[in-house]
Amino acid sequence: MSTLNTPDEHQEIRDAIRSLCAEFPDEYFRKIDEQRGYPEAFVDALIGAGWLSAMIPEEYGGSGLGLTAASVIMEEINRSGGNSGAVHGQMYNMGTLLRNGSKAQKEKYLPDIAAGKLRIQSMAVTEPTTGTDTTRIKTVAVKKDGRYVVNGQKVWISRVQHSDLMILLARTTPLAEVKKKSEGMSIFIVELKDAVGKGLTVRPIPNLVNHETNELFFDNLEIPEENLIGEEGKGFKYILDGLNAERTLIAAECIGDGYWFIERAVKYANDRVVFDRPIGKNQGVQFPIADAFIEIEAANLMRFKACELFDARQPCGAQANMAKYLAAKASWEAANVCMQTHGGFGFANEYDIERKFRETRLYQVAPISTNLIFSYVAEHLLGLPRSF
Ligand SMILES: Cc1cc2nc3c(=O)[nH]c(=O)nc-3n(C[C@H](O)[C@H](O)[C@H](O)COP(=O)(O)OP(=O)(O)OC[C@H]3O[C@@H](n4cnc5c(N)ncnc54)[C@H](O)[C@@H]3O)c2cc1C
Repeated sequence: MSTLNTPDEHQEIRDAIRSLCAEFPDEYFRKIDEQRGYPEAFVDALIGAGWLSAMIPEEYGGSGLGLTAASVIMEEINRSGGNSGAVHGQMYNMGTLLRNGSKAQKEKYLPDIAAGKLRIQSMAVTEPTTGTDTTRIKTVAVKKDGRYVVNGQKVWISRVQHSDLMILLARTTPLAEVKKKSEGMSIFIVELKDAVGKGLTVRPIPNLVNHETNELFFDNLEIPEENLIGEEGKGFKYILDGLNAERTLIAAECIGDGYWFIERAVKYANDRVVFDRPIGKNQGVQFPIADAFIEIEAANLMRFKACELFDARQPCGAQANMAKYLAAKASWEAANVCMQTHGGFGFANEYDIERKFRETRLYQVAPISTNLIFSYVAEHLLGLPRSF
């Protein structure tokens, strides 16, 4: 378990990621943010060093590490001042394929993903008219002559323009014909080069952060039958497993952001002299920093608990959701404290605080909003009545 500057059992990974990230300093990410670009050189370096195939088993060319190690990689990227949002999809999407895909699918895709020839960065779940109410998705995949024909619409689908493969959730049995509303949905591998412009239209959404995200329109997109992952109708169950990994990784990214904000706040509070004293000498400045640090440390415990359960293949929905909630809240508090400590300078682009501030705000909403975590905990952990 990491604290601000204490070495832990993941130190080797931490040191390696820190040294890779040192090649991509603040100026690099600032410029990419200003240009609304994609950190291609950084992603190439991560892939080249094998970090994005950390969770692929060795037999397919990866390092065979677990979610815990993957989460340390993500944490360290954010802690160095970067943004794992550009790459984290590869970790959890690959896991969905690994845990639920057929032998043939794994042999077809995993070695190329491990070798950096293919990217599996995208997962398409959210829809404009149904939002968080996922079981009511309207995108349908109808089986016809050895293919599935897909029609519908998705929104906020990230990294499509920087991915080769996308995991798609669609309804294969109408809602009215299933016993449980979570049944009758399926997941597919979409090979984007065969899809874009041939039934799939991608429309970018400019947004608060430099996060490549898009609206997708499906108009009779044909997907080969063999691209169905697992059993037809069980897709929601498979997606949930991937979502637990996603929530845990994002919790780790928030922890990384949190440490970054704390380090910057501490440094500035020690350096900045006003009224003939470092501002950090005032308890009104130092206590909020200490408070935010404590929150990050506590959230970090839940993050490692979620990782441990996921890696042991134990149920981890509760811990993944709670880790995401605690870490996103702690990083947002740290962001505010860091901004406040910097006074006016926190608003200047060259300090990078406003960029990280915007980036960490996202995690109150995506990949699951705070209210929905409360709702999960209230109903599933506390036995309170279901409210919707
Ligand atoms: C930058 C970005 C990237 C994203 N990337 C992806 C991606 O790659 N793939 C993907 O599938 N999705 C992606 N998403 C979508 C994201 O997961 C959703 O935005 C999120 O789950 C919330 O859904 P929504 O926006 O439809 O909000 P809504 O469901 O419309 O909810 C709006 C607000 O109302 C609240 N609310 C809704 N119902 C209730 C209720 N019953 N009780 C209490 N409160 C409620 C919610 O908490 C939320 O605050 C991304 C979103 C963003 C912003």
